Amino acid sequence: MQAQGWAARERGAQLEPIDYELKLGSPHEILVAVEACGICHSDIHMLDNDWQMSTYPLVPGHEIVGRVVEKGVAVAGLAVGQRVGIGWQASACMTCPDCLSGNENLCDHHQGLIVVGKGGFASHVKVDGRFALPFPEDLPAEAGPLLCGGVTVYSALRHAGMSSGQRIGVIGLGGLGHLAVLFASRLGNEVTLFTTSPEKAKEAERLGAIRAFVVEPGQSPPRPPYRLQVLLNTVPYPQDWVAYLNWLDADGTLVLVAGGPQPLEIPFWALLTKRRRIMGSPIGGRAMIRETLDVAVRFGIGPKVEVFPMASVNQALEKVRQNRVRFRAVVRNA
Ligand SMILES: [Zn+2]
Ligand SMILES: [Zn+2]
Repeated sequence: MQAQGWAARERGAQLEPIDYELKLGSPHEILVAVEACGICHSDIHMLDNDWQMSTYPLVPGHEIVGRVVEKGVAVAGLAVGQRVGIGWQASACMTCPDCLSGNENLCDHHQGLIVVGKGGFASHVKVDGRFALPFPEDLPAEAGPLLCGGVTVYSALRHAGMSSGQRIGVIGLGGLGHLAVLFASRLGNEVTLFTTSPEKAKEAERLGAIRAFVVEPGQSPPRPPYRLQVLLNTVPYPQDWVAYLNWLDADGTLVLVAGGPQPLEIPFWALLTKRRRIMGSPIGGRAMIRETLDVAVRFGIGPKVEVFPMASVNQALEKVRQNRVRFRAVVRNA
């Protein structure tokens, strides 16, 4: 099959139309006609080769919703015509203890879709069917950001101990942070949002946060009225970690899904005195993606997105780079 995609021919370049052949290779593979695809900050990092693992021409896009058009003989549980969702992960070894415990995202041999192949800014995509999950017909195709941004924050909050009836903090209200506010608040938690933007503070309260604090540049975050059980950081910049740790309750957890390249400076006492923890969390395994989608349907959670036609992908990327999208951009095939 001939696919039409949008590719960067070199680091940081504008995307240009590109044609390429997609053919089933391994018996586990499927071909998917792309309905829509979210734009994640990892797409920008890959376009800019920030992680030194990009190869060009690079077709980004890893929050894909589409329909199966062809499948290999070993593909089980997916039918031609079925709607599927595909996130960051393209493959894993499937035999290590992490894979066997449903944490394929922690596998040492985990591979990213747009690291090893062509992504979802295209008419079609070829993927391992084991990493394509049934995508509910009840969700719009524009809900693709649940597949990377959504599972990233949902899995992080769950593994940090979020259940219901708790006090949850979220730092940042972008693509990740707004989904964290939605999941945590709809599941019956009291959410406190920390942002540097007064406008986003208002938006957070509309999304379900009980309060939103504006953190002035260079200042410590304001103290919430009660200590938090879980605090999720979604912004890639250094923060006043000591102040934030002090707003965590006993046994509270600071969980990072984003961070800068700099080492964290944490005084021992901030952790010791209330048995606090710090953890990181990358995307989510297949079971977590299923759970994220299931919870999204049952609790009416969907990303707030701006939709662009696929042919306007460069304008969409530019708006993401300028941090002007509220809160996630999605490109859609006609
Ligand atoms: Zn992503
Ligand atoms: Zn593995």
